[in-house]
Amino acid sequence: MATTILIATRNAHKVSEIRAILGSRFDYLALTDFPDAPKVVEDADTFAGNAGKKANQLAHWISENSKLKIQNSKLDYVLADDSGLEVDALNGAPGVHSARFAAMNTHQNSPDADNNAKLMRLLKDVPEGKRTARFRCVLALAPVTSPRIENASPVCYAEELELPPQLFDGACEGKIIFEPRGANGFGYDPLFVPNGFDKTFAELGDGIKNKLSHRARALEKLKAFLDRAQGAKP
Ligand code: IMP
Repeated sequence: MATTILIATRNAHKVSEIRAILGSRFDYLALTDFPDAPKVVEDADTFAGNAGKKANQLAHWISENSKLKIQNSKLDYVLADDSGLEVDALNGAPGVHSARFAAMNTHQNSPDADNNAKLMRLLKDVPEGKRTARFRCVLALAPVTSPRIENASPVCYAEELELPPQLFDGACEGKIIFEPRGANGFGYDPLFVPNGFDKTFAELGDGIKNKLSHRARALEKLKAFLDRAQGAKP
């Protein structure tokens, strides 16, 4: 039976990138399949902290809700992504605040256009050679433990729940241009030109982005891990 992964994001672009890169050897569910899933507050100050928190909390929620019928199949893992853009001229900002850069004092994500406009404004006087930046992605993979069985040892169950998630990271170096270009992708894609190219991610399109992006690099590591885990199954 294929391994089933819940992709723990409400960002449809991330879901389609992850599915396209990981391929058809896995079955996927997304948070849209779980409308009652809790909304995890991303208040950690690292990508790893936020990704781990999302993966753990959702894996616990699924294990605890034994009544959840998961499309008649077993759910094996929760996969969470936390990612963002680090700009050197801004001392690494927006970083973990990438999704809510235009409204930093809220926990609400801001529209991409507002985030991009703020970035353009802050970098207005920064010259070409000093506009270096990178996208970073950390993926956290948490196993979904079986629902608690009556009479099972609470100690063993608690230990199972406390297993730390596996983390996989990836980065993609590049630079920020002076005005947005291209219509593909999402977020800061129209402003980011990866090293070795003269087009933005939004101009290059998914085919190229999914080979060199921060997410693609983290997913390659995850794929290798899952291949090893599957190979180890009896
Ligand atoms: P998260 O959903 O909390 O991880 O926020 C990620 C934010 O970082 C997104 O809303 C985008 O603004 C930005 N981001 C992450 N990955 C990408 C990407 O591949 N392209 C463009 N922007 C990205």
